Amino acid sequence: MIPVDIINKERASAYLPGGTDAGAPMVGFYRDATVLFVILPKKDPIIAEDRAAGSWGLAWFFGLSNGLPIFSVRDDVVLNAKIGYHEAGHAFEALFADLLARQLFITFDAAVDVLRTAYWQWRGFPGTWQEALDYSYSLGSPSAGWAFLPGESLAEAFSAAVSGIVLSEWTASYGKDLALSFDNVYTPIAGALRARAFFLSIMKEVAMLTDEEISRIADAVSARILPEVLGKLQAGFNTSVTTFIDRQTAGDKKVATAEIDQ
Ligand SMILES: [Zn+2]
Repeated sequence: MIPVDIINKERASAYLPGGTDAGAPMVGFYRDATVLFVILPKKDPIIAEDRAAGSWGLAWFFGLSNGLPIFSVRDDVVLNAKIGYHEAGHAFEALFADLLARQLFITFDAAVDVLRTAYWQWRGFPGTWQEALDYSYSLGSPSAGWAFLPGESLAEAFSAAVSGIVLSEWTASYGKDLALSFDNVYTPIAGALRARAFFLSIMKEVAMLTDEEISRIADAVSARILPEVLGKLQAGFNTSVTTFIDRQTAGDKKVATAEIDQ
């Protein structure tokens, strides 16, 4: 899910209470993700009833039902691509773990551990993802802890992987923001493509795809998604929200301004 305060408040003025209208755009965003990440079922996801306006959390992934992801969006939220792809990232984690658990005869939780451990190592984050999870819980409230949840970090990276650009990373990045190269140059496209390569390579194992199949998918997507997605990402995105704690504490002005210029 994505917490409150991250997108424009003024876009949340008029809405139809109840129903699934706020969640409906999730179907299209989910479809974008299925093009690259073929373990996501092609069938439309389940859109659960919109959550109450003003409640905590803008959009949610509520697990799988018969292998199909269930999503829900808050009534007064205009869903944008960044959030849509983020939620698809939670579905990717669940579907990946489900497949791996069945292939290796391990538990779902053990399969999640495989994915998150690989993710943590790939990011070069300190400690383990379990330690980050414990830290998140120790903060005492979901809104305080959200940015430190490993599954949320993974969903943020997945969102960038689908869109082909890091517009911002809202979860803690421990000084290793996806959009920053090792020499601290702001490279949002290169960062997203690194994320894409990571998720494709880990999916390759579980989906039993060849390198050729993976690169064919990636090539087809680079030609199509990037121009389309830039517009979708910019719609509804509040560029005045600075991205994240460690960048603020690091005083990285370059990041804050480059994002707004996207
Ligand atoms: Zn999330």
